Amino acid sequence: MRNLTLTHTGLLVWLTLATVATSVAAERWMCPSCDEMVDRAAGADLECHACDGFFTEDDLTWYVAHINYRTRDAELSFLILPEDCGIFRMDGLQALDGEGPYWVPWAKVDFFIPRMRLIHLLDGRDLATDYPKGPTCPKPPEFVFEISDEIIRNDEATRMATREVESDMAALFVVAGNEEARDRGVLRFIEEVEAGLHPRLPRTAARATRPLPPVIPNGVPVGELADKKVVVEVRISDSREVQVIRLLESSGFAALDNAASIRARGSGLLGGGELGVPVPGTVLFNYTFKDGKPAVDVVVPENSIWGDRATRTETEDK
Ligand SMILES: [Zn+2]
Repeated sequence: MRNLTLTHTGLLVWLTLATVATSVAAERWMCPSCDEMVDRAAGADLECHACDGFFTEDDLTWYVAHINYRTRDAELSFLILPEDCGIFRMDGLQALDGEGPYWVPWAKVDFFIPRMRLIHLLDGRDLATDYPKGPTCPKPPEFVFEISDEIIRNDEATRMATREVESDMAALFVVAGNEEARDRGVLRFIEEVEAGLHPRLPRTAARATRPLPPVIPNGVPVGELADKKVVVEVRISDSREVQVIRLLESSGFAALDNAASIRARGSGLLGGGELGVPVPGTVLFNYTFKDGKPAVDVVVPENSIWGDRATRTETEDK
């Protein structure tokens, strides 16, 4: 019930507006403050009698979500408009327990990993949820945001390539309410994959399908190359663009380094995969010239998919 005070021709008129009864059945909600399950009609305020809490729809949500999209961090204004999805709304997301589905306010969520059907609460508990592209959600909510990739081409100045991405919730790796929570989510994501908890969607490293050694350019003294090495790092994006091409070790002959870099770039590069989604990946090309014969060895560094992201997050966490 709500009371409105109106002044009309000098008279104080009390108008009582009955809350419009809707046909929507009460939903089970987890109280944002205590753990009590509360009945709440969709869109109504949430009142908890166990802790005397009162929460409007604004109290239940985030304004900005911090996400990780295919290993890259981004922000998005958090407005969920699901078309045909019964498990995500602006005020919360649906979890499952023995008694069936119930709603969890975003404000209570530390991070959410859609592809793992995992909700991690601020109090440390894990909850299960449905897959965001299943029968309960044939059309997951779509988001538009920008991602930036560092583009490094040997001696050129580093630049950022920013592009707009449209993605549905199923393809986001981590969804969180702040940056720290997103980093915790990324660590958890990596740990679960490395522990082999998702064997049906294995991780695949980036690779080179046609790694060829360079032809030694004229003028480079072949006789002096026996103990020389050229190491070139290449990072390939999820859309097969070369993001990074960087000389890590030089032979001492610029023409040979350059020939090796060109070969690395033309080696038929394929990005990696993580939980069934294309992601960037890094490969190292080691070129050697024993007995005057150029040879190539391709090495995939540790954390090749995440780059230094995983290590950086771990360090910052301490
Ligand atoms: Zn409560």
